[in-house]
Amino acid sequence: MSTTNKIAINLYNTKTRRKEPFTPIDEKDVRMYVCGPTVYDRAHIGNARPVIVFDVLNRLLRHVYGAEHVTYVRNFTDVDDKINARAAQSGRSISDITAETTGWFLEDMAAVGALQPSIRGKDHERAMPRATAYIGQMVAMIEDLIEKGHAYPAEGHVLFRVRSYSEYGALSGRSVDDMIAGARVEVAPFKEDPMDFVLWKPSDDATPGWDSPWGRGRPGWHIECSAMAHELLGESFDIHGGGNDLTFPHHENEIAQSKCAGHGFANVWLHNEMLQVEGKKMSKSLGNFFTVRDLLEQGVPGEVIRFVMLSTHYRKPMDWTEKKRAEAEKTLRKWQSLTDGAERRRRPHLDVLAAISDDLNTPKAISLLHAHANAIEGKEDAGRFLSTLQLLGIGAKWRDGVRLAVENAFDNVGLLDELIEKLKVARSEKNWEEADRLKNGITAAGVKLMISNDGIVREIENGFDASKLETLK
Ligand code: AMP
Ligand code: ZN
Repeated sequence: MSTTNKIAINLYNTKTRRKEPFTPIDEKDVRMYVCGPTVYDRAHIGNARPVIVFDVLNRLLRHVYGAEHVTYVRNFTDVDDKINARAAQSGRSISDITAETTGWFLEDMAAVGALQPSIRGKDHERAMPRATAYIGQMVAMIEDLIEKGHAYPAEGHVLFRVRSYSEYGALSGRSVDDMIAGARVEVAPFKEDPMDFVLWKPSDDATPGWDSPWGRGRPGWHIECSAMAHELLGESFDIHGGGNDLTFPHHENEIAQSKCAGHGFANVWLHNEMLQVEGKKMSKSLGNFFTVRDLLEQGVPGEVIRFVMLSTHYRKPMDWTEKKRAEAEKTLRKWQSLTDGAERRRRPHLDVLAAISDDLNTPKAISLLHAHANAIEGKEDAGRFLSTLQLLGIGAKWRDGVRLAVENAFDNVGLLDELIEKLKVARSEKNWEEADRLKNGITAAGVKLMISNDGIVREIENGFDASKLETLK
């Protein structure tokens, strides 16, 4: 297939420890999987880093191959012991917690300008799979691994036999014996080897569980990504991403599971480095822990958060500081006024595109943008500048003012949630007329609703008009 006209993309592959030219398996369907959040709490500022980094990559791929030729899948982990603990401690149901947290995540990530994952540019819902909707696929994959001798059942558990996969450790560059020495492996009497990890574990009556050949239980963490990536992206796909805290054990285990099941799995592995705050690891005890929502509520525009993130290369540790926040705000104000009234020109500046294509060199892209900003003379220049910013996901909301879109959305979330509660009640009472009235009204105000037996997930869309909610009260 001809690749003329296509700009060359180079990506640093954790697996080979080199920057490599990126060549998709199928240019008509470039496929990426990124590990998403465990949904039990607000996303902290560190969680936004992979979302923003891989959003830039998604935008780049869409620019180069066309939006309808890019598939980006990011999961929601909605079965996890942290979620169970949160439910037990708060007295709320698990499905309430996961539905609410999923909605929060989508809102907060929209506020920092992240496009929703999509299948060939469409079908956002399927592109953001919830683990609990894929238990059948996980069970089938575990059965297959047992049959092939890579896993074994023991006392209601199923364990992956790590020593059966000779390349285990290749991604993180460690041998199994080094890993045993360095890792906090759980020693359990039913394990053949301390390195073996859980694919399935038993659930008691108070814990969510599904029937399986090994009794009622639930999946271990790693199997969901292998099963969902296979179901949604096929035997092999192009890019797998996540934070570098996931390299070991999570990604190492994903590879072992998928390769032993006979899948090709991912060609290129990308990992972002961690975010710190004012030079220190973020932690609740140090008092420097905050969520994306905390910042938005303090009036920090989502685009400022995004800009600060992109000013450090994704493979370097990044430090969130008050100083950077203030500088970013100043720069964005200036750029906004420079592009006031400008129309987007289709062709972005090629040097900026080239910087992003060079392993997502966003700090270089930003320094080039400073130079372009200083050279703006007329509307033409301003329009081209605006369309260049779009590559980084900046400037989309400037027509309404940076702050406005976010504040407008958040001021009215209280009312929105009240109406959703009413909708839940109407549904539980089988009052379908009232349920339809609410559902249609909320949808017409620009909120997408995903209604299932587990609850209701809401997504505030760009054209959200809160005034339309008032009449529904
Ligand atoms: P979790 O919900 O903890 O599994 O994290 C979701 C995503 O956020 C994963 O891709 C993590 O690698 C990433 N992540 C968590 N903490 C940080 C941090 N401090 N800096 C950057 N990424 C992080
Ligand atoms: Zn994963």
